[in-house]
Amino acid sequence: MERMDILSLPLDALEAHMAEMGEPKFRAKQIFNWLHQKQVTEFAKMTTLSLQLRERLDRIFCINRLNIARRLASSIDDTVKYLYELPDGNFVETVLMNYHHGKSLCISTQVGCRMGCQFCASTIAGYVRDLTPAELLLQIYETQRNAGCRIDSLVLMGIGEPLDNFENVIQFFRLLSDPNGFGMSLRHVTLSTCGLVPRIRELADMKLGVTLSVSLHSPDNSRRSEIMPVNRRYPVEELLDACRYYFEKTGRRVTMEYAVIDGVNCTKADAKRLAERLHGMQCHVNLIPVNPIAERDFRSLRQTVERFQKELTTLGVHATIRRTLGSDIQAACGQLRRDADGRKNARGTSDGGGRN
Ligand code: SAH
Repeated sequence: MERMDILSLPLDALEAHMAEMGEPKFRAKQIFNWLHQKQVTEFAKMTTLSLQLRERLDRIFCINRLNIARRLASSIDDTVKYLYELPDGNFVETVLMNYHHGKSLCISTQVGCRMGCQFCASTIAGYVRDLTPAELLLQIYETQRNAGCRIDSLVLMGIGEPLDNFENVIQFFRLLSDPNGFGMSLRHVTLSTCGLVPRIRELADMKLGVTLSVSLHSPDNSRRSEIMPVNRRYPVEELLDACRYYFEKTGRRVTMEYAVIDGVNCTKADAKRLAERLHGMQCHVNLIPVNPIAERDFRSLRQTVERFQKELTTLGVHATIRRTLGSDIQAACGQLRRDADGRKNARGTSDGGGRN
């Protein structure tokens, strides 16, 4: 029988397993503590448990690991980009960033993505699978082990659409914030979505304290539908209504991500339309110079981003420009994984070649 991945089990599920095994309830808490606070990687190291129990656990459960396939460290700042190999041989990317307020980690939520945003490298080869709660946690634990630091905040902005992997992400939040485990306050977590409206509303109702970041990228429905197919299902009006609802329910200001793309979404008219759309909303706009990817011809000049910011400010919209970290290792998000998959496929003989 295949062993169960114990890192994905919340404390109450672990308690149920202990009851089934005829163990007292407090054992679950002990094990949970070894896994998520001390972060041991083998049952043999759980020295407060009897040898017999450790061996039993090892027969029923496994403690998965991620393998560092590549590690790119910026020579400009302390940004480190990891390409992690998952237990089944797939790859995801994780980025460690150093801010004055602490260490922040950007994690992936899926292998690939089915959302199809035109400017995004993560979605070009499509969707492979969802990450499990354990694989979400392991990006933090393995990075902490490698970098020898404690992660202070988290952004779900790597490969994948977090709200398209809703159940696992929510389970991950429970594990992450459990005071018996890693114990991170969800106020230190930001979730970025391309705009799955019903899920935004569901998340609002849960009142978890997570900050919501929405990838808006255009105030205009026809243009947004061209670059982000999700807009055909959930147009801008519905998306912004859901953002208002999120603020009402949680009291947390929503961030609007806006990748500035020359000739696509940054005219004076765009600024005006955006200001009208956001009028009266508790939000702020984060302008991102678009990161060029090999497959598309999207660019943004620094002066375009600055001009667009000025126009928005004049119109009363609070807009910042995202600070670029690790610019020397800035392979656009998803590009490292695509390279790795390409290499793996080139080595293999069976599946008829790579994705490129
Ligand atoms: N699926 C989620 C989270 C992953 S993408 C989402 O869409 O929000 C994280 C952020 O990076 C999003 O704002 C996304 O639109 C942006 N992004 C993707 N590709 C980009 C690129 N080439 N240049 C700039 N921003 C990009």
